Amino acid sequence: MLNGTTAEIKERSALRINPAKTCQPIGAMYAALGIHGCMPHSHGSQGCCSYHRSHLTRHYKDTVIATTSSFTEGSSVFGGMANLNQALENIFTIYKPEIVAIHTTCLSEVIGDDIPTIVKKATEEGKVPPGAYVIHANTPSFVGSHITGFSNMVTAMVKYLAEKTSETKDQINVIPGFVDPTDMRELKRLAGELNVNIVMFPDTSDVLDTPQTGVYEMYPKGGATIEQIKSTGDSIATLALGHFASHPPAIALEDKCGVPSAFLELPIGITATDEYIDALRNYGTVEVPASIVQERGRLLDVVSDMGQYLYGKRVAVFGDPDQVISMTRFLVELDMKPVYVITGSQGNHFEARVTDILKEQAPDAKIKQNADLFELHQWIKQEGVDLLMGNTYGKFIARAENIPFVRFGFPILDRMGHRVFPMVGYQGALRLIDKIIDAFFDKKDREAPEEGIELVQ
Ligand code: SF4
Repeated sequence: MLNGTTAEIKERSALRINPAKTCQPIGAMYAALGIHGCMPHSHGSQGCCSYHRSHLTRHYKDTVIATTSSFTEGSSVFGGMANLNQALENIFTIYKPEIVAIHTTCLSEVIGDDIPTIVKKATEEGKVPPGAYVIHANTPSFVGSHITGFSNMVTAMVKYLAEKTSETKDQINVIPGFVDPTDMRELKRLAGELNVNIVMFPDTSDVLDTPQTGVYEMYPKGGATIEQIKSTGDSIATLALGHFASHPPAIALEDKCGVPSAFLELPIGITATDEYIDALRNYGTVEVPASIVQERGRLLDVVSDMGQYLYGKRVAVFGDPDQVISMTRFLVELDMKPVYVITGSQGNHFEARVTDILKEQAPDAKIKQNADLFELHQWIKQEGVDLLMGNTYGKFIARAENIPFVRFGFPILDRMGHRVFPMVGYQGALRLIDKIIDAFFDKKDREAPEEGIELVQ
């Protein structure tokens, strides 16, 4: 499919071909699903909402609920106030959520709909039942990416819901970033091993990875409750995992309620997980239990056993900025050589941080924010790599160039492991090494001559 891509690069300023990102509302919709009893609402046309729901459903392999203001030509001209007003009445009457989280789309942003004013009017008209909540985030897709949208919606949770009372609670907030439900579950498990009480928000575990019971539940048991999110203003501290997705809401909570933040990177790999554990240990004033030390030790054993197959391998990595930053760090820990590192999201922090991570291992690496897969493919054409890592869209490059490919990040539309196995923590690191090694050995087995194939590698 991409066999026609050439190695010759022509400078482009505006055009992006196969951008390594998707649009803001997808991230906002995903974040909203991490509140218990929440109905995400898309203020725009039906097409946007359908696309966002189907994209999330294909990745999570579970039903993603959301409602829409169903803009028509009329709303495009006169604004979406009447549609949103009617939508709120319908949603609370028919679907009975505890909270509606509204995000905007390109169209409603261009029109300039004032969501707080519309919600105020609907509330005054009795369309929002007593005790129910409506929050909103502006998510114009002509700027930012799905990570910006995620971050904006989590910041909205803080702005609308977090409260400070006179009593500090013995709990630590964890803002997990744009990771899968199984990653959130793993982050909670690690905190549980340390016996540290955390409030994770948003939390999509037990929302988008629910067990099959034969009974459909519109609002599954998972998600951070409204009471929990309110209580984040009384927590001891906030661990914000990921510069792009989680630092802005942590700063908002610091500003609003004075809760101090620890700004961490996503705990992918050894050192980043150590930092997460260390922050929990510090703020929770606990000792690291033997179970965690052993878990880490088993990972180190695998790293030293497999090092011979990983050393010096050239890697191309693409995807969401927080995930790519931590993945690059992990690849360096494995003595691999990330030579091309890109994200589709914008933000100078990405290039600065990755440059710093690679300053000794791969000082000549090509690193780019606001980048696309077309250019990444051209770099690979110019000088090949041993491994490609990223979301499902990378498979076309991997096929064209016959490169081992490890899927991670969002979206993964053609595999299912991400639904059940985490990539964060020591367990996640083990899984990633397993996938990398398998990808190398599968290629070797496929291509070895009959007399060269080995039973034991
Ligand atoms: S980019 Fe804009 S118009 Fe397109 S799906 Fe996203 S919100 Fe809708």
